[in-house]
Amino acid sequence: MPASQNGVHVQGYQAVKATKPGKVPDVIVDLRSDTLTQPSKGMREAIANATLGDDVFLEDPTTNEFEARVAKLLGKEAALFVTSGTQGNLISSLVHCNVRGSEMICGDNSHMYKYEQGNVAQFGGIHSCQLPNEPDGTFSIDDLKSHIRTDDIHYPITKLVCVENTHNRCGGRVLPLKWLDELAEVCKQHEISIHMDGARLFNATIASGIPVSRIVRDMSSVSICLSKGLGAPAGSVIVGSKSFIEQARRMRKALGGGIRQNGILTAAGLYILDNMITRLQEDHDNAQLIAKLVNSKVEKLARIDTERLDTNILVLHVTNGCGIVDFCSRLAAVEENEIVTLGKGISVKCFPWSNTSARLVTHFDISKEMAELAAQKICFVAQETARSKTTS
Ligand SMILES: *Cc1c(COP(=O)(O)O)cnc(C)c1O
Repeated sequence: MPASQNGVHVQGYQAVKATKPGKVPDVIVDLRSDTLTQPSKGMREAIANATLGDDVFLEDPTTNEFEARVAKLLGKEAALFVTSGTQGNLISSLVHCNVRGSEMICGDNSHMYKYEQGNVAQFGGIHSCQLPNEPDGTFSIDDLKSHIRTDDIHYPITKLVCVENTHNRCGGRVLPLKWLDELAEVCKQHEISIHMDGARLFNATIASGIPVSRIVRDMSSVSICLSKGLGAPAGSVIVGSKSFIEQARRMRKALGGGIRQNGILTAAGLYILDNMITRLQEDHDNAQLIAKLVNSKVEKLARIDTERLDTNILVLHVTNGCGIVDFCSRLAAVEENEIVTLGKGISVKCFPWSNTSARLVTHFDISKEMAELAAQKICFVAQETARSKTTS
């Protein structure tokens, strides 16, 4: 396949599978994604003990409690459990853009634009307009203003603006509150809704110290993933006004997302609210630790941009000349020579992120010790692949 500008078509989310036949690793540090987190013992107990009912009949007490608590936490009228982040974003877009000929505006590096199959067009007939994302996950407000359609028979109708917080492709960046406030002002003037894809919204509140209700104050809707770093086996939740959630509930049913004894899943959600949010700080600390160890040792060969490291997503820039797929494959493989140097076989899994960078995500199942081991392996591979480049 041809290389694209940012490498995403070449590598995207494809795993680096073909590691060289080597040694069986002593430790695997899997940093491919925070979706890998497993339900803890406590969460499994909460699931096992959940009181259940039929949620399509609104009779599942666990789900009702979960939705009420999320709505309250976010300062919104109502909430709705949905099966995934993609479904939450799709349902929200379909509700906000329920007029034929609607257009939504989003960033060109947003998950909704890049990784959701163009579902808003596929299923909703929604036209989308992409504005170039800045490295901090924002886009230019002036650019936005110039793309809001005037009332003209030639144009679609601008109904929705979508933002992403934290911003995945920009490296887990937390959107600045000042920018969100400016954006809200413009959207209010033009009567345009704002949807926040907050797959990792709790990472944003932990990193910034800003209450989650303040971050989403001016959002018409927000979607949050329960299965990203928080340990739930499935599910997301969307919040908004009572009327928005009523329409969303209808839409969810039409899309096949009405789950009967849903308390099995929302019990995990309640467990998250009580136990899993504040601990995200540990993931952020482990990300900083990896960055510090790598930069202090091999900065000229491979480096993590610490000014841009807000949360748990690290972007590792490989500057030693080694191809990114080879670099990631070597990180995952274990060979004899490294066991001599490092004392054990460490396999580090991550995704190529562009032609010269890889994405590494810290999460619940990565301890401080594993973060240190990952850093050791990265340093080792940065040196080894640089050496082999100059000697071959
Ligand atoms: C993962 C993710 C989604 C989609 O969530 P799924 O549950 O995988 O469908 C949406 N937006 C962002 C920013 C994400 O990281």
